[in-house]
Amino acid sequence: MKITGIELRRIAMPLVAPFRTSFGTETERDVLLVRVVTPDAEGWGECVAMSGPLYSPEYVDGAADVLRRFLIPALPRHADVHAVGRALHPFKGHRMAKAALETAVLDARLRAAGQSMASFLGAAATRVPAGVSVGIMDSVPQLLDAVSGYLDEGYVRIKLKIQPGWDVEPVRAVRERFGPDLLLQADANAAYTLTDAPHLGRLDPFGLLLIEQPLAHDDLVQHSHLARRIATPVCLDESIESAEHAAAAISLGACSIVNIKPGRVGGYLEARRIHDLCRAHGVAVWCGGMLETGIGRAANVALAALPGFTLPGDTSASGRYFATDVTEPFELRDGHLDVPTGPGIGVAPLPDLLREVTVSTEWIDL
Ligand SMILES: [Mg+2]
Repeated sequence: MKITGIELRRIAMPLVAPFRTSFGTETERDVLLVRVVTPDAEGWGECVAMSGPLYSPEYVDGAADVLRRFLIPALPRHADVHAVGRALHPFKGHRMAKAALETAVLDARLRAAGQSMASFLGAAATRVPAGVSVGIMDSVPQLLDAVSGYLDEGYVRIKLKIQPGWDVEPVRAVRERFGPDLLLQADANAAYTLTDAPHLGRLDPFGLLLIEQPLAHDDLVQHSHLARRIATPVCLDESIESAEHAAAAISLGACSIVNIKPGRVGGYLEARRIHDLCRAHGVAVWCGGMLETGIGRAANVALAALPGFTLPGDTSASGRYFATDVTEPFELRDGHLDVPTGPGIGVAPLPDLLREVTVSTEWIDL
């Protein structure tokens, strides 16, 4: 498959409400899209890096730079998706940039072949259960109103963002208000240290499905100590950037659940490797989110349809984050999202909507 050129497109997507986590507040999603053009088809990839290096070391300007300076020039002109991974391998890190490029090539190839992403990955399910991630709020009553609204919309699982000073009380309030049957979990985005273990143990009585990434992104050993000291299952997000990391975490006992984000791990092929590894070890996985537009969301929903994704993901409806998406919006039906069945990722940006949010474009001939 010959690639004729690649477009880097920067778009600005206003969020329906500010989204606050332990590392900051977002009011607008600054997104880098990669469009791969071949004579037969075009493919799209969405880079999940944020504006600043807060979730991980990557950030949008840095991703654009490494793509134009190193990754795109290294791409074989007749790229198949496995060749892309090999060509990008010598460059350390920059997994979000690599994932966007590999996904765009994969999408183009699958569209040309008439095969869906879900079918390529080996998915069986035709719809996936949708959870929602609820940001840190100014007050517990405000949080309870937000959770109540999401449950009314049909979300089947609630995730609360937590940080020191906003943890036990909001979790207790949500559990007491909505009862023991609510699927509830918490995400600390690396906001604690191992000395907080007794405090985190105070979450144990609330029957959480899991606590996500309580400690630093680069400390599997301390997570393994924490996992032995609290009853709530530990799930890792930021710490798992590859199948090798997942293997190390499992053998150390650093987690019993993994949040798989294709952008964080370098693409959908690596995401599937982590899924396969975890499934073989009896470790449950679920699909996280990075406030994706419909482009990234479509591919995530296809991944979440694999059989090892036994917990609801953060694959929410488009309306959770955006009043207007750049694709046809993903909508909840009975608490689920339908897995796209069309060729490739199964959706494409709508030209008028895309133009409205575009900040800049750059064309690179190959
Ligand atoms: Mg997380």
